[in-house]
Amino acid sequence: MNYHITLIEGDGIGPEVMGSAVEILDASGVDIRWDKAIVGQEAVDKFGETVPEDTINSIKKTKVALKGPVTTPVGKGFRSANVSLRQKLNLSACIRPVINLPGIVTRYQNVDLVVVRENTEGLYSGLEHQVVEGVVTSLKVISRNACNAIGRFAFDYCRNHGRRKVTAVHKAAVMKKSDGLFLEEIRKIAAKYPFIEYDEVAIDNLSMQLVTDPSQFDLLVMGNLYGDIISDLTSGLVGGLGVVPGANIGKDYAVFEPVHGSAPDIAGKDLANPLAAVLSAVLMLEYLGEHAAGNRIRDAAYKVLEEGKVRTGDLGGKSGTKEFTRAIIESL
Ligand code: ATP
Repeated sequence: MNYHITLIEGDGIGPEVMGSAVEILDASGVDIRWDKAIVGQEAVDKFGETVPEDTINSIKKTKVALKGPVTTPVGKGFRSANVSLRQKLNLSACIRPVINLPGIVTRYQNVDLVVVRENTEGLYSGLEHQVVEGVVTSLKVISRNACNAIGRFAFDYCRNHGRRKVTAVHKAAVMKKSDGLFLEEIRKIAAKYPFIEYDEVAIDNLSMQLVTDPSQFDLLVMGNLYGDIISDLTSGLVGGLGVVPGANIGKDYAVFEPVHGSAPDIAGKDLANPLAAVLSAVLMLEYLGEHAAGNRIRDAAYKVLEEGKVRTGDLGGKSGTKEFTRAIIESL
């Protein structure tokens, strides 16, 4: 089978880690024709908008994209391309599987959880308003439909991936209406899946529990801002931002991308760990039904990690992005 897939290389370390993922996909023998598209600053310079129509049209045509990280100006400038893309394509669910890697010793060796994050609303609705000088409001939008959609996605994912428990994450003691509505919807869905264990935890308590005993969690479902933060926190449990993949899934389209950002501090220096990008490509292959190729790539990368000779700096090694990529291809 041959595939036509949109490729967004992104900024900073994006071209390096995406280059690695594409090389490894090529070496795996899966036949992919890439349609290159742009977002972020490059798109603003060329088309005057962060996520241009051409990019949206490309993904609407191919249905699937592999995307690198994109720099977003802090506190000013254009709107986050990541947030816009997820909203424009209604990529309502974001999944980040967080699992220990062979040969990578971290504080805990029993982490195997999935963060499922609502991707289109919450505090990332982008609705900010200056009331008067020195006073601003930022709207947290929670809709019954989106809570229902993310709840269904979470329970279906749990069932389809042989997981046992869903934990809903909230702060409904304070945000009684917004997080209250989220919990109300998730509880309704939980009642329809009696064979899946269900519980709830407040976001502050979850943060403490995760860094003391992450093994108690299986699938965590939460809103947009909580999911963004908890994804980075849980990455830290298994080796850092360089190793955790992600997928944004909607009804019609899917965009696969690493959890990490564009890491401008190490860009262009052959220092970035491409594993998060490579494992995002594996998630993409699984979504496409190419399980054998996905497993081969994951096994090849795991073998290199386990041998321990070739590792990037973030994992305590001395190898560069290119050397690690070559080692995975050889292992393939
Ligand atoms: P964003 O705000 O765009 O979400 P972030 O908060 O995830 O970004 P990053 O830019 O990803 O932040 O990275 C934070 C730090 O983690 C970087 O400065 C870099 O040192 C390290 N880092 C991130 N990704 C990688 C990687 N693939 N390989 C090695 N180090 C990385």
